[in-house]
Amino acid sequence: MPKLVLIAAAIALSLPAAAAEVTAVQCGHVFDATNAKLLGAHTVVIEGNRIRELHAGNVVIEGATAIDLSQQTCLPGLIDMHVHLGSQTSAQAYSEGFRLNPEDFAFRSVGYAERTLLAGFTSVRDLGGNVALSLRNAIDQGLVRGPRITAAGKSIATTGGHADPLNGVNRDILHAFGYPGPEDGVISGPIEARRAVRQRYKDGSDVIKITATGGVLSFAKSGDNPQFMADEVVSIVQTAHDYGYKVAVHAHGAEGMKRAVIAGVDSIEHGTYMNDEIRRLMKENGTWYVPTILAGVFVGEMAAKPGYYPEIVRPKALAVGPQIQKTFAAAYKAGVKIAFGTDAGVYPHGDNAREFELMTEAGMPANEALQSATRNAAQLLGRWDELGSLDAGKLADLVAVPGNPLEDIALMKQVDFVMKDGVVYRQP
Ligand SMILES: [Zn+2]
Repeated sequence: MPKLVLIAAAIALSLPAAAAEVTAVQCGHVFDATNAKLLGAHTVVIEGNRIRELHAGNVVIEGATAIDLSQQTCLPGLIDMHVHLGSQTSAQAYSEGFRLNPEDFAFRSVGYAERTLLAGFTSVRDLGGNVALSLRNAIDQGLVRGPRITAAGKSIATTGGHADPLNGVNRDILHAFGYPGPEDGVISGPIEARRAVRQRYKDGSDVIKITATGGVLSFAKSGDNPQFMADEVVSIVQTAHDYGYKVAVHAHGAEGMKRAVIAGVDSIEHGTYMNDEIRRLMKENGTWYVPTILAGVFVGEMAAKPGYYPEIVRPKALAVGPQIQKTFAAAYKAGVKIAFGTDAGVYPHGDNAREFELMTEAGMPANEALQSATRNAAQLLGRWDELGSLDAGKLADLVAVPGNPLEDIALMKQVDFVMKDGVVYRQP
């Protein structure tokens, strides 16, 4: 072996592993996500990308860099369980799909991801869109700034259903593209359902998303008809669970929602026309509800502007929009498990925290709203062991707001400190 290599090897062996940087974050209050309550002043000690310990009071830690958040309330990094980082609402959104290239959408998503992170959302679940798979990888590799992403990739629809990418196009375009199949996330029948889930595995998805009923923004008449038959949704769930996937289900109408809950899906998204029977079934099965009130309110507001949405979409937006907040209130009262989610992209990215105001307006106390975006969301992600609270050993995701969010929930829109994985992205 050449001498130089031997020397290099010896040096490499003798060097101790670089000591991870230690940071002591001095918080005025901390939010205890397990018990949904605010504790007084604490010091959160971060070593590398993990929380090392939590001390009562603001204490000096030997050898640590101190960060003064003594006027702030510190919370675990917020988690939004329903976003679409690959797109954002605009009056041009429906024609852009025909004019823009995937690269255009990809570059836009970089900005959306950064805005989301700087708003305090250090983890998101992206429920539909292939851009998110590559965006997730680029963020994990440190190439762009954004939240930790759990990505569905292309959501799975039935032919002509919500999320069939070729709804509303003319026959010539349809023939040029070829009819979409399970690989494109469009199925008919249980065998194709299996193929579609397995294709998502091949694509590198982290979660399975299906559209069990009509949707508001798709180019189709009904916003709530059932679009998966029972055998199709059962096939999705069985296949997905074999691969360790959770299944998230877009549903507005009651019948499609009921079939999904009975099939054993993990979460119902939107849930607009949820009724007593479904609430009971969800409680029995431990199904989570991800409300997305903000998306409902936003599409209701935009539908009032002539020309913002196609005419086929407008009446659906006007009907569904105002209903979701009432659905949320009833689900909360009934004791259905709720995880925070907003459908970001349907409204502009970065405004996610407006959802907290809508939740409290509908009767959920502020401490539980905060818990839904921390502990509950981490549980639905299946990552409560690593995320969702400021406990020792967890990943160092910490955000802060200037004041007491239990007294004024609107403060959640003023996140002024963001740390993800031990790295500071925003400081007061
Ligand atoms: Zn969505």
